[in-house]
Amino acid sequence: MTDFEQRCQSVASHFAENKVDVLLVASPANVRYLSGFDGSNGLILLTPSETHFFTDPRYATAAARYVSGKVHVAKGPLVNAATIVIKRKKLKKIGFEAAHTSVQASQRLKDGLPLGASLVPVVGLVEERRMVKSAVEIEKIRGSVRLNSEAYQRVIRRVRPGVRELDIAAEIEYQMKMLGAEKPAFDTIVAAKDRSALPHAHPTGYRLVGNELLLIDMGASLEGYSSDMTRTVHLGPPPKRIKQIYAAVLEAQLAGIDAVRPGATAGSVDRATRRTLKKYGMEKAFVHSTGHGLGLEIHEPPRLGKNDKTILAPGMAITIEPGVYLEGQGGIRIEDTVLVTSTGCEILTPTPKEFLSI
Ligand code: ZN
Ligand code: ZN
Repeated sequence: MTDFEQRCQSVASHFAENKVDVLLVASPANVRYLSGFDGSNGLILLTPSETHFFTDPRYATAAARYVSGKVHVAKGPLVNAATIVIKRKKLKKIGFEAAHTSVQASQRLKDGLPLGASLVPVVGLVEERRMVKSAVEIEKIRGSVRLNSEAYQRVIRRVRPGVRELDIAAEIEYQMKMLGAEKPAFDTIVAAKDRSALPHAHPTGYRLVGNELLLIDMGASLEGYSSDMTRTVHLGPPPKRIKQIYAAVLEAQLAGIDAVRPGATAGSVDRATRRTLKKYGMEKAFVHSTGHGLGLEIHEPPRLGKNDKTILAPGMAITIEPGVYLEGQGGIRIEDTVLVTSTGCEILTPTPKEFLSI
């Protein structure tokens, strides 16, 4: 049995508890996970024994060659083609991915269903299976993380006053591609000075002047798998206060990593980073969750938020990324990608974390 067949079977083994006979998979990442298809227009009708894959004529050749499952090439909307199979096989309880199916597509489905069949919204079924990575997936994530760190090393040594945020972001993405990445896993964040306090700042034409913070959050996509890393550096020797904040964030990040082990909840990791920042009176300046799972998508379950009850298990790849953001002054975030192992975790990101002044 191939990896794809195994994954389909594992998803189908949860149909009964979701009260469905079949599942229509529409999320591109889930479609890729179950079939290997990485194009933009694919739909899967998964039954307990078969995988029907639908795409349009643009992808006919690629699908026939690479996709696992029975390929249907359809001219019109893919859901219409799927309803034909649903009718032929007399399927009744049709699960669909509520978070990834448009109102229009679900209406088309509804209109096309035979009498007695019904639509059942399903949330997160494939995503839950995707949380624990296989050995092959872990190798791809490792490769992506290594590549990402190498791109950072190549660029950071050339950062100096006079360079724009946009130049740095462009150079990072260029280096990623030169190292073999398909693309950045998300829009690269390069934020200097007080803009580093905006957790998701886009790079601007601002030119570095020196004596300022610089936050870089970057990730590559390699063979479909993401990496994610943030480093914050200081141009010129940092003031004492900035050094203190950096030390607190680093301590929080290490406390988070320390809390990662199989059996622990995702929420307990978040609480560990927050507890550390609280010691320094900085917990209110930490405005997002501690991290997230990553794989075929840059953000996937589990979410490492305060009340998340997901139990961590070996094979999960997650980020640990506490930050402190002071409006008008600046922000510091430190982020690594880590792998949950049978005894704790392995930090995949090789890039050093001592406060770097350049
Ligand atoms: Zn992240
Ligand atoms: Zn990030």
